[in-house]
Amino acid sequence: MSPVIEVTNLRKAYGPTVAVADVSFAVERGEIFGILGPNGAGKSTTVEVLAGLRPADGGSTVVLGVDTQREPAAVRPHLGVQLQESRLPARLTVGEALDLYAAFYPEPADAAELLDLLGLTDQRRTAFADLSGGQQQRLSIALALVGNPQVAILDELTTGLDPQARRDTWALIEKVRDAGVTIVLVTHFMDEAERLCDRLVIIDDGRVVAAGSPASLVAAGEDRRTFRMRLPAGTAPALADGLVRLPEVDTVAAVDGGYEVTGGPRVLPAVVLALAEGDVAPDEVRTLSRTLEDVFVDVTGAPPPPPGAAARRAGPARAWRTLARTEGRLFLRDRGSVFFALIFPSVLLVGVGFAIPGMRDVMTGVPVEWAGLRPVDVYVPVALAAAMASPALTTLPVALATYREQGVFRRLATTPMRPRAVLTAHVAINLAALVLAAVLALAVAAAAFGPPAPTHVGAAAAAFVLGAASMFGVGLLVAARARKGSAASSLGMLLYFPLLFLAGMWTPGPAMPDVVGDIAAYTPLGAASQAMTEAWFAGSVAVPQLAVMVVWVVVLYPLAARTFRWS
Ligand code: ADP
Repeated sequence: MSPVIEVTNLRKAYGPTVAVADVSFAVERGEIFGILGPNGAGKSTTVEVLAGLRPADGGSTVVLGVDTQREPAAVRPHLGVQLQESRLPARLTVGEALDLYAAFYPEPADAAELLDLLGLTDQRRTAFADLSGGQQQRLSIALALVGNPQVAILDELTTGLDPQARRDTWALIEKVRDAGVTIVLVTHFMDEAERLCDRLVIIDDGRVVAAGSPASLVAAGEDRRTFRMRLPAGTAPALADGLVRLPEVDTVAAVDGGYEVTGGPRVLPAVVLALAEGDVAPDEVRTLSRTLEDVFVDVTGAPPPPPGAAARRAGPARAWRTLARTEGRLFLRDRGSVFFALIFPSVLLVGVGFAIPGMRDVMTGVPVEWAGLRPVDVYVPVALAAAMASPALTTLPVALATYREQGVFRRLATTPMRPRAVLTAHVAINLAALVLAAVLALAVAAAAFGPPAPTHVGAAAAAFVLGAASMFGVGLLVAARARKGSAASSLGMLLYFPLLFLAGMWTPGPAMPDVVGDIAAYTPLGAASQAMTEAWFAGSVAVPQLAVMVVWVVVLYPLAARTFRWS
């Protein structure tokens, strides 16, 4: 039978850093295969290339007969990957996460069975953020298994877990293997590898420095022996120091008030004989058996059914709907977002709408001449602008930047679903919020001040659509540039108030000095607000403002697309 995984002469560099210099290994069906090595050895890079998440610079990676560099999508439905440091949205519950990821695969596992296997049944309704470290890790394993994979890659599975949780996780991995899944386990814990792995490679500096079963690796070094002893008080230190000159002895080290001696197979009798000649009998002689850790230190010198082209996506449209529904629920679960995106524009409208009749020109102090418009009519475009700015500058970029920061995109990249789908789902949700907020604001305006009377509905609609499109472009650019969710939040707020000011939030258009109005016309939100005012209430088409928004759209989207990073 041909191996399930074959890595041949893999090479991968990041600029001048050679992460993987030359790595080859093969994994048989049903094995737990370990990839060991110190930090920075190239383990994660190896499995990321293996899983088709990164291109290699040389060599080949074949999983289930598929070249994962040429056809990464073909293998994803059959491969479960659990990556280091990839989290889930804080408010997503265990059950929702499992249902969501199950929707990405053609033949998902039974979610209830999986929860039972992983001991998470009682946590079905618990949000990700409220799980313990061990529970989060188990959920992560569940997500790697929910697609019913033939091969599961688990990276640094037990890092950060307490000893009991680690042992529980080990037992679980064995259960998964017994269920027929081939497992690649990346770890830097020797005890874990010794306990779980059928075979393993040790990688150091991007190269395989040892390969075999844990027992064979340990046995291969068994011509070296180690023992510890104490010498009676008063023994001349020179005697112990002299032992290292014996041909059988390699090293003598002072340890715990005694000595640790290493050497060839006959090191112990040779040492005892030499001590006897000096009339010294050692106390407490204890031989140490070699462990995988010794092998590791020796070799690294460091302290411790072929899917082929037939593979298809699992009903992408249905998967996307599940994704959008789940993300929508998460959006609604965040009260701050709901208030800001949906309610705030209406609050603004009512609050300021009643104050407007007494408004004076900010420069001259003369009461503003409203040219036959009711003040509230002037303020409706401002409320609509606020409805655009809130999702575009807050909820959309913050969610996307947070997902990148937490590794949510990276996790999605391991599934048949593309991370791009989360982005489109978020745009859709925020657009829905925008439309809802606008409808609400118009209804509130009508109820409080009487219905606004649109005179040029087509032009108003064009201004609204172009304004929303250009503001979402700004939001996507913020999401592309901000490294973290907190940075996206700050950057969004930094833009929010100046843009809303220019859109007339504090001083509506008619009361605004001309020069400020002229500047505002070049901003996406100011142009939208002015074009809506003209179209809706003056009945004319504001061509320059509409053109400004078209330019913003044409500039912002390609820029955001070029600079957006998924991890
Ligand atoms: P390990 O998983 O064994 O700790 P990695 O594969 O993460 O090793 O890293 C191997 C080397 O490649 C390290 O020197 C690391 O700093 C570097 N490296 C890893 N990922 C990147 C990256 N995205 N960009 C640049 N260098 C990287």
